[in-house]
Order: sequence, then structure tokens, then C-alpha cells
Amino acid sequence: MSLGWFISAAPLSMSLLVFDSDFTYLLGFMTVKQLYTYLCNNYVVVVMGLRNVCESPDFVRVSTAADIVLGYSSGKFYRNAFPFCINLLLHFSDGCKSNCLYCGQARGVTSAPICRSLIRVEWPLRELGDVIERLNGFIRSGCSLRPYRVCVASITNPRAVEAEVEVIRRVFRGVGIPTSALITPTLFREEDMRDLREAGAERLGIAIDCASERIFEALRGRGAGGTHLWGRYLQGIEEGVEVMGRGRVGIHLIVGLGETEEEAVKLIQLAHDLGAETHLFSFYPEDGSYLSGWVRPPVGQYRRVQMARYLINTGLSRYEWMKFNGVGQVTHYGVSEGVLEEVVESGLPFITSGCPGCNRPYANERPTERPRNYPYIPRGREIQRIRRELMTYTPPQNNYQLLLQYLNLNLAS
Ligand code: SF4
Repeated sequence: MSLGWFISAAPLSMSLLVFDSDFTYLLGFMTVKQLYTYLCNNYVVVVMGLRNVCESPDFVRVSTAADIVLGYSSGKFYRNAFPFCINLLLHFSDGCKSNCLYCGQARGVTSAPICRSLIRVEWPLRELGDVIERLNGFIRSGCSLRPYRVCVASITNPRAVEAEVEVIRRVFRGVGIPTSALITPTLFREEDMRDLREAGAERLGIAIDCASERIFEALRGRGAGGTHLWGRYLQGIEEGVEVMGRGRVGIHLIVGLGETEEEAVKLIQLAHDLGAETHLFSFYPEDGSYLSGWVRPPVGQYRRVQMARYLINTGLSRYEWMKFNGVGQVTHYGVSEGVLEEVVESGLPFITSGCPGCNRPYANERPTERPRNYPYIPRGREIQRIRRELMTYTPPQNNYQLLLQYLNLNLAS
């Protein structure tokens, strides 16, 4: 009998004496449930026959940073950039059904239905009840340096809607701190958004990721063998704002997927006019994804989009007032020099944009690198450097035509 079939058949609470594969190292006593999570967290291989015992809503994946905060694993945060948001991800044994070409969870690239990494970090599987208990302990400790938000991210799976609502309900009932639901409008309809709100979500995140329809089509839509539709995402943003209210929906936008700066700014304005803010990410190639060999955006490109986002979301400027050069780079932000200087000096455009409390440290770069999204307010020398970066214009190496060439080469092989 294989290990998988044994786990499928055995009672979850049954205790086992577990050895390593050579029977030389005693791993200790574990229940069947603990053995399953151990396997999920340590091996990508899925044993045939495992039943869906450790899936959402009872189990969730926890980002590495949150895993450290909750005391499951050890680690330090560079410059003490403590994460104020606990990021959770739904988990199903049959994985994500979509095929976004920049994502390590895409159906076509995961070596197994259970994928352990997303935005380049591991997401260990944990029991939701235990996560809530640890979080509660932290909150009751009276420490001010503690999580202030929980974010529950969905994947594209037919069971995701029900599980997302249930995880949000348990988290909100159990912990009572602000909770965000990061969803895909491909699965979540307006009534589902209402259910999320009733369950306790006070904000919605919609990861549209791509700045324009042509990029979306190539990387997430039919061009990529995916399930997502650009039109449905735009409709989903409107529905989200209708359900949650203006300013309580954020779109995730990844800079550097082949769009021009102008396309990114145009989408930020569109979302703002619909009542949603934009939360920015800088593309970083994920190992094992189709886009693992695609270039990172130059920091100048990212800084200019950050600047434009801040000015639009704070109502200081609009896309129509800005100017762009022949390759779509921002050359004028539609505000006076004085206002621009004041805004740069404040450092605010360059800190992480997100739901209140979500500082996502190092989601865009290695911890040893200078942050693209600062998890604190940059000052002094950092501002001087940002000023230089804003003025650095390099010929784009990551435009739409080059993206199509890259995809033709890499999808064919
Ligand atoms: S900004 Fe942060 S908390 Fe808000 S939806 Fe995105 S990841 Fe979640």
C-alpha cells in the first residue's frame, strides 16, 4: 500500500512513529494530519491518493514573512521592516486552474498541483485554527508592533469562492482585525463579494496585474491558455466598488510586464475614476514560470509609475494632464515643479501602496536589495537617489513587441 493510500484511509488523529525515507532518522510522533502538512511543506511531489483533508478552509498557506511573525519559522526582517499584514493563500490539492505566464502557480508550469511558492517566496501550509490562535495571542500581548490586517488571497479553483468566504468568516470572528479579500472576478460575482463583506471583509483586492488588454490577453487570457477575461476584470472592479464603497477596492498592478508607462498610468486613472486605488508591484521573474527569463523593469520606469500613481490617487493630477515621450515614458506629471518637489521630498509615493497596514516587505526584490516599495518612509540620501532614478530614461528593453518575441521563443520550446 502506498503512503498516499495509507494517509487516505487512516483516521486523521491516528498517531504514527515517523522515520525518514532511509529509516535512519526518527522524525518523531505525528498524527496523519501533521504528516500530510509535513509532506506538503517539504516535498513538491504529490502522493497519488491523498484525500482532500488539508485544504481550505481548514488549512491555508501562509507567506514566509507571516510564518516568521507567527512563530512557525525563524528569520529576521531587514531594517526591522516588520510586516503589519498577515498574508494567507487558499490551498486546494488540485491547485490553480489558470495559466498566468508570470506566475509560479500556473497550471502549465507547476510540477505538482500543490505549489509552494508565489512571488518567489515559500508559502507553508498551516492549520487555520492554529493561525488564528497564534494571531490572537500576538494581539492580546499588548505589543504595538503587531499585525493590523489579515489578507486572504484566492486562487482560480472551483471551490475557492466558498472557501474564501469561510476563511474570512473564521478569521474575522476569531481575530476581529480588518480583513482584505484578494479575489479574481473570473470566479467571484457581485453576490459573492457581498458574501465576503457579510463575512467580515472590509476591503477587496483585485489582481488585474496587467496594465492593458493586449498584455492581459497575452499573459493571462486566451493567448496564454488562461481562463481570465479583461472585460470581466473591469466589470469586477465596478462591482467591487458598488459592494464595498469607493476607496475600499484596490487593484494590483505589476509594472514591467511589457506595458508602456503610459498604459500603466492610463489604467491607474481608469481604476481611480471607477473608485478603486492602485497597489503597485515591480515585476520580478519567478523561477519556474514562463516569464522566468523576462527582464525586470528599470528602476526609473517603476519610480515614474509610482509617482504618477500617487498623484492620481491623491487627486493632485490626472492621466490627461501628464505628458509622455515617443516610447510612452512619463516626461511631465501634470503638476507644477513646486508641487512635484514637495511630493518627492515627502517620500510617500515610494512606500508600499496597499490596503492600510499592508507593507509587503520585499515582495519585489531580494531582502539584500534596495526596496522598490519602501516598507518605511525613505528619507535623506534615499530621496536623493530616488530623484536621480526618476530622471533616468533608458530605452525600454521590455516592451510589448519584445514580450511577444520572448513568448514565441519560450512557449514554442
Ligand atoms: S494590498 Fe495587501 S492587504 Fe490589500 S489586497 Fe493586496 S496584498 Fe492584500
